[in-house]
Amino acid sequence: MLKAWDITRIKRLNKDILQARFEAGTADCSEYIELIQNVVDNRSTPEQELYLKRHLKMCLKCLNKLNLDLELKKAIQHKVRYKDVPVGLANSIRKKISNSV
Ligand SMILES: [Zn+2]
Repeated sequence: MLKAWDITRIKRLNKDILQARFEAGTADCSEYIELIQNVVDNRSTPEQELYLKRHLKMCLKCLNKLNLDLELKKAIQHKVRYKDVPVGLANSIRKKISNSV
């Protein structure tokens, strides 16, 4: 039977393994979703970018997601910068927000 400290050790080991896989870029894609978001929002550390880069070399799915999010961000920034917001839009958003509260 496992003793309590064994379980603690196993849990710690699992955490270390997950961290190692994360750093090596071989963890599950879900581990990188937050990282992708941070990179898109310019909130990532150089270390995190390195982890993500390693993963992207092996994972087309996350690479596509990153590219899509970056394109989306660019498109949104472009629209915000160069297009006037339709007059009724701001009001209808305000109305929706106040209705949902
Ligand atoms: Zn992935």
